[in-house]
Order: sequence, then structure tokens, then C-alpha cells
Amino acid sequence: MYRTAFDEYGELFLKQGREHFIKKCAILCVIKLKFRSSGRKKVIRFKNFGRKGKHAEEIAIRRIENEENGGEWTATRVEMYISFSPCNNCCERIADFIAKHPGCCVRIAFSCLYRYTEEIHCEALRKLKLNQEITRLDVFKAADWRLLRFRGHLHLSPYARENMNRWDGIWRDRLTAILNPMLPEDSDIHHEDNLI
Ligand SMILES: [Zn+2]
Repeated sequence: MYRTAFDEYGELFLKQGREHFIKKCAILCVIKLKFRSSGRKKVIRFKNFGRKGKHAEEIAIRRIENEENGGEWTATRVEMYISFSPCNNCCERIADFIAKHPGCCVRIAFSCLYRYTEEIHCEALRKLKLNQEITRLDVFKAADWRLLRFRGHLHLSPYARENMNRWDGIWRDRLTAILNPMLPEDSDIHHEDNLI
């Protein structure tokens, strides 16, 4: 193992889906928690890699639930930075988590799309996007990288910093197409709300 001055996770976020796919899904989570009895707040962050049979989002949600310590603490804000978009199972797991955490906003940013040609995952992303508590479901933007660097969460190599925006546009266009599927040409749209 050789030493690097940069952050392994940051580099993985950046390289994932940018010409090469890496068989690893990294996640960086920033979670705001409130102590139920006193209202005291704390912020924790952790990084993890998905493992065989367990996706990074599932590992992250379990970790958040552990931090809540049986309801002593409650998550009020969750930021997930992932190297792939959530799959259909993880979308459902995130929706279940939200249902148990009313008022907890969830922001999700990812480097590239997971199996974007498979409708099951596209449909799950569309459904998750409609969830009111999801305040962000998007490909990394320059602002995300800047924020993570500013907070000291990721330390990117000079190469990474120079190339961070090279591929984002491609993935963002694909995501836009998934989230806004074109209506069939012969579809008949009724604006029933306007008739009331
Ligand atoms: Zn998944």
C-alpha cells in the first residue's frame, strides 16, 4: 500500500463512471442528529464502501440507525454522497427511512448512474425524486465538490480537481432523461385541476 496525500474516497467519487467503472461503491454521509430529550444537536460523518451483497446506502442507513441509539437521538438531516445512484432496493430503503423520520431532509448526490439502462432502477429514481423530504437527487455538481473540500471532507489530488467537471454533464443529461421521460406523442393530457 502506498501513501497518498489525497483522499481515497474523494478520488473514487471522481473517477467512478468517468471512462472507467470501478467495482466499488463509496459513500460519504454527513448526518445531523438531535438529542430527543434536550434538543442538543450533533453532526457526524462517516465513509464506507459497499460490500458484496450489501450496498453502501444500506450500510449507511444501518449506521445512522445505530447512531440514533434506539430513539435517543433522531436524524434531522442526511447528506449522502455516493459513487453510484441508488438502485431500486436502496431507493425503497431510503423511502422507508424517510417515512420513519418525518421532517428529516435527505440530500443525495452521486457520480454516475447505476444500471441506467434498466427500467426498474430508473422507475425507482423517479419515485424517490417525488418524495417531499428528498431535497436533492442529482449528479455531483462543482458546488458539491467545493463544499466537500471546504468542509475538509475530501482531499482531492490536483488531477482530480482539474477534471472534476469533465463527465458530470454526460451523467446529468442521462439523469434528466430518466427523471423526465417523454410523453408518448399520442398521449391525451387532461388538466382536470384547471376545470374545477
Ligand atoms: Zn443499492
